[in-house]
Amino acid sequence: MRQPIIAGNWKMNKTILESAAFATELAPRLAAFTGVERIVCPPFVALAAVADVLKDTGIKVGAQNVHWEKNGAYTSEIAPNMLQGLVEYVIIGHSEVRANLAETNERVNKRTKAALESGLKPIIAVGESDAQRSASETEAVVTAQVRAALDGVTAAGMAQVVIAYEPIWAIGTGKSASAQIANEVIGGIIRPTLAALYGGAVADTVRIQYGGSVKPENMAEYMALPDVDGALVGGAALKLDDFTQLIEIAAQTKGV
Ligand code: PEP
Repeated sequence: MRQPIIAGNWKMNKTILESAAFATELAPRLAAFTGVERIVCPPFVALAAVADVLKDTGIKVGAQNVHWEKNGAYTSEIAPNMLQGLVEYVIIGHSEVRANLAETNERVNKRTKAALESGLKPIIAVGESDAQRSASETEAVVTAQVRAALDGVTAAGMAQVVIAYEPIWAIGTGKSASAQIANEVIGGIIRPTLAALYGGAVADTVRIQYGGSVKPENMAEYMALPDVDGALVGGAALKLDDFTQLIEIAAQTKGV
């Protein structure tokens, strides 16, 4: 069975002190739900403080991006070895990075391979825009994103990879994808693409999250879908009560 996995993407929110205080309050609330893999992804500057607060709690820490080079003249970037020992996960290909920082499928692939080589677990975000959905391009876009991101990633490497289906039109908009859409894309497009690349047995082990305006009110619908293994959460991850409820609902719905 695939272990449910919920990651909170804090985006550019919370100072170092606010992040540490939030993590301090969050840890006891999430302590009971050990069947769910629980991850928070604060801004880079707060990673060390949050990692320190969460050590020995079972709650894991992720970064929000990583560069592919080991070092050098890459002002503003963070290399994989700088994250080693600090985080277990790293979000790659988030739609805000794709949109605001001209992220490409090729770079997502480079970041993914560099993360894996450094022992970091990538959470690779894919998803179509509103215009692409309206033009019936969802399958082509998502398939191409998944294939490109994983180019050169071995079947063994896939044990460390998480895919997040995040339709761009649902992120931070309050407009969530219906469970039917999440199921169509995750169960009908992403997992079959993984099966085509790696075979059904490997595809069955890869965890796939839904992301896009997930909140306590709609969480159970997504978690009830057998192909959906968790959520990548933005806004609701910034609220103690909401994030706690999301984890609780995942634990209940998945029976862990
Ligand atoms: C995200 O940032 O990955 C996200 C899904 O945001 P939100 O939950 O706010 O839509």
